[in-house]
Order: sequence, then structure tokens, then C-alpha cells
Amino acid sequence: MAKRSIRDLDVHNKKVLLRVDYNVPISKEGAITDDKRIIETLPTIRYLLENDAVVILVTHLGRPEGKVVESLRLDRVAQKLSTLLGKPVRKLDSVIGPDVTEAVAHAKPGDVLMLENVRFLKDEKTGSEELAKSLAALADVYVDDAFATAHRPDTSVAGVPQFLPSAAGFLLEREVRVLETVTTSAKRPFVAILGGAKVSDKIGLIKNLLTKTDAILIGGGMAFTFLKAMGYGVGFSLVEEDYLKVADEILESAKAQGTRIVLPVDVVVTAEIKAGNPHRTVDIEEIPADQIGVDIGPRTIEAFTHETSNARTIIWNGPMGVIEIPEFTEGTKALARAIASNKEALTVAGGGETASVIDALGLQDDFKHVSTGGGAFLEYLEGKQLPGIEAIDSAD
Ligand code: ADP
Ligand code: MG
Repeated sequence: MAKRSIRDLDVHNKKVLLRVDYNVPISKEGAITDDKRIIETLPTIRYLLENDAVVILVTHLGRPEGKVVESLRLDRVAQKLSTLLGKPVRKLDSVIGPDVTEAVAHAKPGDVLMLENVRFLKDEKTGSEELAKSLAALADVYVDDAFATAHRPDTSVAGVPQFLPSAAGFLLEREVRVLETVTTSAKRPFVAILGGAKVSDKIGLIKNLLTKTDAILIGGGMAFTFLKAMGYGVGFSLVEEDYLKVADEILESAKAQGTRIVLPVDVVVTAEIKAGNPHRTVDIEEIPADQIGVDIGPRTIEAFTHETSNARTIIWNGPMGVIEIPEFTEGTKALARAIASNKEALTVAGGGETASVIDALGLQDDFKHVSTGGGAFLEYLEGKQLPGIEAIDSAD
């Protein structure tokens, strides 16, 4: 059922509790290395400010597991937001309590406040009604723009909207609209490209996509469990022995449903996963017993590129090779470029590593949509209900 949009919620002059996901990567030196998740919420914040709202931001950062961890305080995040927004952001040192209540009481329309890291409270993870009510008491309405946390039943995500009128912010709305389109009304051919390390992480995803797509292209470490299940020797490549049977079942089920599963025909192999180590391309019939498959080869790149150029809907999750080593990123880069160059298709990518590759290549604007979600993106595509979306009021 459609959820209420921020456009259809009366936010004028209201105190708005805005849940965002500013769980951004931070370097050892303490610098924010990727601010995409902050930037993507600016339209919602600006809209609220134009409507003379008081914006009270709630986010988590890292996994403090219910206690105060100094390095996970939000000062730097608030500073970054302030720079991007071009106005002061008042960062508070607690999540709830008298100081917060007082700061909120004195806030004026157009003020931006940020509560301390909500995961400093263990009740964020318990679905505590008490914490939900305390947070709700700070505001008149609740807006959720934290798509990347939508798969978590956390108190500030799923609990607070039980006690306030709620709506989806522009980012959450856009993420959900795109995923809804690909899962319910994708233009054909619909091609999914899946990579990454493990089959076990992505079984639910593959099974659900089998029912919707025309073809699933599988690269990355995941491909070797499938290749082994088909009887190929894969040397020391990553294989999940416990999942050979599942891989077999998936291949059978694909056949029965008429969905093509396209696997690599050649791979890059090396004796050791290490920068500068010798490596070469072999056909999959010829993977040496003492070598590891670390990337897709040129013939596979060509075949995958051909598939993507014909598609009208493309979703991509997971690198095609061991992207931590520059030499083994060729397949992933080639695929990213191939997908980005298809301007006829709805091109959607998601996943932490996947999004960072796209950013590193400067291709973010060449995709129709790069999700801010990893787990939430995958769970939506697995066909699961996300608590963070469920909790938002329905559209009238
Ligand atoms: P995302 O974060 O985009 O969802 P994943 O976390 O599923 O992607 O996968 C990323 C990981 O997959 C990387 O750490 C990469 O090294 C690993 N990977 C890709 N190909 C291989 C391979 N052939 N062997 C081992 N690991 C691989
Ligand atoms: Mg990852």
C-alpha cells in the first residue's frame, strides 16, 4: 500500500522528528570519506526549512551497542551537514533527557537540531515503547528518510511513528518508488547482475529475482559455487560447499521458470590474492587446481555487456571480482560502464561496495538510481516487508 509522502503531511511551523541514516564511513583520522547519505537527505531538510519547521534529526552511527562510544559521537556528522546545508546545525550531546527537551522547546522555525547517536541507548534496539514515546514527545510529526535503515525494526525507525503522524521523506520515497517499479512493473528484458563473495548472502535475492527477471548474470566469488555444482573444477576459488545443493536447485528452478542464469565462461586466476601477484585469464574448463578465481575474464565481460545492452531494466548488486586489489577490478569496472551506458534502461544499483565502485568511476549520475541502502536494498528485492516502510502511515 502506498505510504504518505512528506508533501501530504502538514509540516508548516511544526516540530519535525526526521529519521535519517547518517551512518557514513569515517577514516581512522576521523574524516567522513563518503557523504552521499547526507547529501541525499538535503532536499527533505530544505523542504522542511522552507516550511518553517523545526528539524530534529535522529540518526545512528556505527555499532555502539547501547553505550556511549566517544568516537561515535555525531559532532563531525553535524559539522558536515552544516557545511552542506550552509547553516548552523545544533548538535546535542544526548538523545533524550532535560537538555534535549529544553533545546527543542527553545528552537525557532528554521532551526536544525541533531540528537546524539541514537544507538548509544540500548532501547534503540529493543523496540522500547518508552523510548519511542520519549522521542515522539519531542515533535509534532515524524518523517522517515532513513531508507538504509528501513530493514531494521529499531525503535526510532519502527516505534516512533506509532505515536506521531508520519510520512516518507523525498529520499525514502524515491528509493521505494524505484524498487517498486523494478519488482512490479519492470520493462523487459529485465536483467539482474549479481556478484560479491557469497551465495549464502544472496539466496533469497536470487530466488525472488528468478520469478521476475529474464536473466541473472552471476559473477564474483558467488559464481564458483555454481560452477562447481555444474561439475567444473574451480581450484582454490571461493566455494561454499554447504551450498552446492542450493546452487543446483537454483539452476533447476531457473530452467523450470525459463529464466536464464548466465555464468562466467572465463576467469582471471592467481596463486595468491595479493597486489602485484602474477595472474592470467583461463576458460572455466581450465581453472588450474592450485589457483583462485578473482575476476571475470574478457569473454565474460563481452557476454555480460551484450546482455546489459539489450536490457530495459537492470539491477546490479555485488562486484565481479576481488575489488580490494586494483588488478582484479577490471570486470567490475567494465560492467559498471556497460550498465551506465545503457540510457534506454532503468538502471539501478545497490550495495556498499557496488555503490563505492560506481562513485570511484564517477558514474553515479549515469545510473538512473544508486541506492543508499545495502541490507535494505537487498531485503526489499528478496521480497521482504521492511519494518521502516511498514511503520509509515498509509497515503489517504
Ligand atoms: P556489496 O557491498 O556491493 O553488496 P558484497 O559485500 O556482496 O557487495 O561483495 C563484496 C565482496 O565480494 C568484496 O569484498 C570482494 O572482494 C568479494 N569478491 C568478489 N569476487 C570475489 C572472488 N572471486 N573471490 C572472493 N571474493 C570475491
Ligand atoms: Mg558489502
